[in-house]
Amino acid sequence: MPSIPKSVSADASTGAAKNTIKTKAAKIDTKLLTAPTQIWKSRISWRITLAVFMTILAVQAGILNVTMKNFEDSRLAHLREIGRTAIVPLIDMSVRDLLASPIPDNAAMRLLSATKVKGLAVYSSQLDFIKNYGEPLALVLLDQDSTSKTYRSSDGNSYEIVLRAYDLNRPYIMVARLDSSHVSKELQEYVKETILIMLLMSAFVTTVLMIAMGKWLLEPILFMRSNLISASENPENPKIVPSPFDPSDEIGGAIAIAQKLIQQNADNIRHIRGAAEDKIHKLAYYDTLTGLPNRILFLQTLAEHTRAAADGKQERFAVIALDLDHFKDVNDSMGHNVGDAILRGVGKRLRTAMPKSATVARVDADEFAITMPLTTDINSARDVAEKIINAIRAEPFRVFNEQFQVRASVGVSTFPDDGMDPDQVLKNADIALNRAKEEGRDTIKEYSEDFDNAVQQRFQMLRDLRTAMEANQLSLHYQPQLDLKTGKVIGAEALLRWFKPDNSKEGGAFVPPFEFIPVAEQSGLIVPIGEWVMRTACEAAVAWNKKHGYDLRIAVNVSAAQFSRSDICGFVRKTLAETGLRPSNLELEVTESVFMADIHHTIQTLKELHAIGVELAIDDFGTGYSSLSYLRQFPIDRLKIDQSFIRNALNNHDDAAIARTIVRLGHSLNLKVIAEGVETKEHEKFLLEEECDEVQGYRYSRPCPDADFVKFVSGYNGKLSSFDR
Ligand code: C2E
Ligand code: MG
Ligand code: MG
Repeated sequence: MPSIPKSVSADASTGAAKNTIKTKAAKIDTKLLTAPTQIWKSRISWRITLAVFMTILAVQAGILNVTMKNFEDSRLAHLREIGRTAIVPLIDMSVRDLLASPIPDNAAMRLLSATKVKGLAVYSSQLDFIKNYGEPLALVLLDQDSTSKTYRSSDGNSYEIVLRAYDLNRPYIMVARLDSSHVSKELQEYVKETILIMLLMSAFVTTVLMIAMGKWLLEPILFMRSNLISASENPENPKIVPSPFDPSDEIGGAIAIAQKLIQQNADNIRHIRGAAEDKIHKLAYYDTLTGLPNRILFLQTLAEHTRAAADGKQERFAVIALDLDHFKDVNDSMGHNVGDAILRGVGKRLRTAMPKSATVARVDADEFAITMPLTTDINSARDVAEKIINAIRAEPFRVFNEQFQVRASVGVSTFPDDGMDPDQVLKNADIALNRAKEEGRDTIKEYSEDFDNAVQQRFQMLRDLRTAMEANQLSLHYQPQLDLKTGKVIGAEALLRWFKPDNSKEGGAFVPPFEFIPVAEQSGLIVPIGEWVMRTACEAAVAWNKKHGYDLRIAVNVSAAQFSRSDICGFVRKTLAETGLRPSNLELEVTESVFMADIHHTIQTLKELHAIGVELAIDDFGTGYSSLSYLRQFPIDRLKIDQSFIRNALNNHDDAAIARTIVRLGHSLNLKVIAEGVETKEHEKFLLEEECDEVQGYRYSRPCPDADFVKFVSGYNGKLSSFDR
């Protein structure tokens, strides 16, 4: 068995898909591939950092808000204390009049010019206004409640406070206007400083955070990403770099799992691909039913043999083509299960019968091919073929407890004797096989060049026949059929004639039907030809009957191919309707070969034809297979004894006995019996004695053209003796 590279085309001849499976690499969004690999460009890092930065800022702004108020309050309290300590020493303890100011005017002038106190109002402890110094005051004490108030000017430059008796340690209440312009400035400074510190702190935290994220987050994520990209680009063979990240932390663990998945995916793909390739290889090169190599692999094996031979390694080898006889019948009548089982059995038997060096292949439905190097033990292809046919014949095949005796036709050719090219050697074996089939099957035929010539001639014949149809080279001759008891002409058989023009004196020659009809049958050309014959014959019969008042029946030959390849019933119906011929005036002659095809279909068709009213005759009766068993099943009207029995009846006891038996058989089945090939008075006498019903033959008339046939009928006196010579 040659080793087939898995990447070769599954079907080189048809150019079918290569059987190498390509894994589809995922298309990665190009945006992903350009994603940053540096922390400074990482969007996610920036987002986190910005969020952290803003949070720090927000928290610090909140804190600043609180500390700013405290800062201002503490500065104002300090100012108040400065004011108080500046005022208290100026109070003159000696003043007894409680409604006179305790602060001397000059002292007040000093106070206002040298200290933060810019204005001062003095009240008695009973809130009686006593005196006012310096700038006017906004805060005016009217009752006890107003002593707890302070006042700050809207520009923040002045701050008015109330100093009560216990602040002053004297029985007075004073309102002092203090210069607080420095407090606003200090507050501004404080805010500036604090914000700067805040920003620096945020920047520092952010930087540290970026570095930490880069190290612990971005780096491993980028590493994982590059692994995933490489895996998606080449899933079958991903480039997996060992991870430097600790698998016990979260991202390191995720990387380890991702890498494991990538590896598993790659393993799976390789596994599936391998299995699929094996399957494709099997489907492409092996027959699924028998498990044997198929035609492609067989031809490759042959090619290897021929190459080896060219290298001088091998001398000769046999190529055998084997076809099971009537396998289609088994399939049609017993079902495909049985057919399949037989094919498997045959394959198995051939394989075991052949040595290891042989290749046994199933190359077509019921066709096997074998090739084997010839050795000194088995040195002729015919020996191989005999071995094969003996293996098949050895014993019947058992299927579902039934026995099937299988027969095979075998064609044999030898390399290099019958061809140098592998295709040619197999073709020659096939040609020999066809010969074997034509010569009655169940035989071995060795290839000979003559076969090839015969095949070429057939092809030429087919081409000529096609032209003949178009060029009106076909015609019909009619041969009378007579009733043996009454002597009357009862009808005629239509026989096809092909006059093929040539350069001879006669302008052409008739091609014998036995030469061209098988070609027409094999090519299917018999269907249109047969339809033309039937239509022409029916038209002729209608013309005779109408013009001359006859009631003649026309017998038309119908091939098995017309049964299987066309709607014969439909055509008969149509022809009868179109020509106006009475159905009983048309007889269809079929040979027993129709029964070799699809039995069910044949029975169905014959019944349908019978229902139309046409007559049915079995032509060449006695020469076919197992005729008797079919007879009862079919709606037949007439048996036509084959002319060979009549020809030999007078000098061969067996043939006479067969003719006699056919007449009796026909009568016992209520059938008419007609004898063809009646050439002499003696033939006629024999048939009269055997009580045959009808006759046809050269004694009465050769097949002749329409006009001659009409002349024959009109000139005939109704007496068989008129044919005596
Ligand atoms: P067949 O149907 O058995 O036709 C009878 C053949 O015997 C005819 O040969 C006829 O000429 C010949 N014959 C008739 N009487 C005698 C006789 O006394 N002695 C001898 N020796 N021969 C006689 P033909 O015309 O050569 O036809 C041969 C075969 O070709 C036919 O055999 C039939 O099977 C086939 N054939 C002819 N015409 C058609 C057709 O239109 N369609 C089909 N499918 N086959 C046809
Ligand atoms: Mg016939
Ligand atoms: Mg015949």
